[in-house]
Amino acid sequence: MKSLTNLELLSNIRALAQEERRIGVELLHHIREIDARKLYGEKHSSLHEFLVQELKYSDGAAHRRIQAMRLLRDLPETEAKLSSGEITLSTASQLQNFFRAEKKLGTTYASAAKRELLSKIEGKSTRQTEGLLAAISLQAVPRERERTLNESESSITFVAGSELREKLMRLRGLVAHKNPCPSYAELFEMLADIALQKLDPSKSEPLTAGKQLAQPTEPTLAYAKRAPHLLRAPSPQSTHGTCKFQPIQPSRYIPTALKRLTWSRAQGRCEFLDSNGRRCTSSYALEIDHKIPVGRGGIASEANLQLLCRSHNAHKNLGDYGFVWRRPGDLRVAREGTGKI
Ligand SMILES: [Zn+2]
Repeated sequence: MKSLTNLELLSNIRALAQEERRIGVELLHHIREIDARKLYGEKHSSLHEFLVQELKYSDGAAHRRIQAMRLLRDLPETEAKLSSGEITLSTASQLQNFFRAEKKLGTTYASAAKRELLSKIEGKSTRQTEGLLAAISLQAVPRERERTLNESESSITFVAGSELREKLMRLRGLVAHKNPCPSYAELFEMLADIALQKLDPSKSEPLTAGKQLAQPTEPTLAYAKRAPHLLRAPSPQSTHGTCKFQPIQPSRYIPTALKRLTWSRAQGRCEFLDSNGRRCTSSYALEIDHKIPVGRGGIASEANLQLLCRSHNAHKNLGDYGFVWRRPGDLRVAREGTGKI
């Protein structure tokens, strides 16, 4: 470095910055394709976790890359603006966050309106972009922050509307006989406990002793050899040719008691094991999954049910059926990750 002239040093760093931007865009294209193919699902519960744990990005850096990738997917012109440096990963991410928040609030932007905003943030810093977006919709600009203080504490700040504040004041009054002046942290911990008691299926009433769970009634021969105990049992009066099993309509119904049992056995965490036997343990958007799918004769039994996070359930469906069913209205994601069915 010391041997370079000032001119060379400046010329080099400009070339390097340009190369860094080019690689950054290339990386977004890779993230997009990995997302489409759900390639992160084998080991990770989300694309974000894949970027953090496998690619060693910080939480913020991973978030910015994912949001910028989504903007690039929606508006292809983002690529040229990122490559030239007219917008940055941060401002692209801010804009995508804004569109998402606006959608949540009921305002959907057409492509032309999105493009117009994209050109308006050209050359702007993150602070200037925040100001520009706040002027359009104050509510859509993120006003929540979480900051890790140390291993056991985080600082969480958010803007509370007058209604929420009023509710918190009423709550404070209700608990005053036990705690005359509860802090916000104490109030929210109490609210979290009450909500978890109500919403966490494993916290509800325990499985009643002797309660009848679904009885196995139907098999699929291919699976019957591998895991006969997870399939519907043969029907004694079957007359299905030489096959001793009688096909019946499969049912996805899972008795409530069995749902609770599955939740409490998994301790409210994803049970997916990767190829190294490492458990996922995510508690995000958990779903009860049939290890052997209902479509292949799997039944609702304690042994055949497991708790999976949405991502790992989708990953498993990809193996079971060759595609992933997403929320209503979403596209089905094909095995090859093309998004085309
Ligand atoms: Zn998982």
